[in-house]
Amino acid sequence: MRVPFIAGNWKMFKTIASAKVFADEFKDLKANKEIKVAICAPYTQLAALVEAFKDTEIGVGAQNVHYEAEGAFTGEISLPMLKEIGVDYCIIGHSERREYFNETDEAVNKKVKMLLEDGSITPILCVGESLEVREAGEEASFVEEQIEKDFAGISADKAGNVVIAYEPVWAIGTGKTATPDQADSMCKTIREKIKALYDESVSESIIIQYGGSVKPANSKEILTMGDIDGALVGGASLKSEDFKGIINF
Ligand code: PEP
Repeated sequence: MRVPFIAGNWKMFKTIASAKVFADEFKDLKANKEIKVAICAPYTQLAALVEAFKDTEIGVGAQNVHYEAEGAFTGEISLPMLKEIGVDYCIIGHSERREYFNETDEAVNKKVKMLLEDGSITPILCVGESLEVREAGEEASFVEEQIEKDFAGISADKAGNVVIAYEPVWAIGTGKTATPDQADSMCKTIREKIKALYDESVSESIIIQYGGSVKPANSKEILTMGDIDGALVGGASLKSEDFKGIINF
């Protein structure tokens, strides 16, 4: 039984003060089902959120990490720094990082491997195709190739600890949601790819989220699909009531 997992991605929004206001409103969350929940926030807000959620089941995640433990990498944040704060998750390879910060599958793979080898922070690995790729009908092969590159060199005993977020780039922040069938079909393709790379026990246990304009009004139809195990939520995770509405789909 895969326990659904819904994570918010605050991107570059909020301050420590407004994150604390959100946490006050959100920490009394009463989920209507067994579910895992996390907020992935900017670095400066992480310590405040870990403190605010310390007596709850709500997890806290970062949105990026460098693949080296330390070094001359001005402006970067390392795994030991995140561990010191006590975060539970880290988004890796979000399409905005791939597009605006030239993050390659090679770098994404190094980051995922590093997190899995350490084992204290769960990677939320984002994959997904652009509109151009979908219009060319090449979305399945594109995402399969991302999975192959991002999981390169990762052993079967570790692979199942990755959370995969399927996020079609054309549906992120655009208000255009993939239809439940489009989203489910790609999550199934990803699960089959994981089975081909590893085995059925990994593919049946791995958590695959959908992300792209998920909101309270559409979360039920998306999250009740067979191969979708949760959501990565951007805009609609910024307001506690909206995020609670998505969680209690
Ligand atoms: C995201 O940032 O991962 C995302 C899915 O954003 P939105 O929900 O706003 O489309």
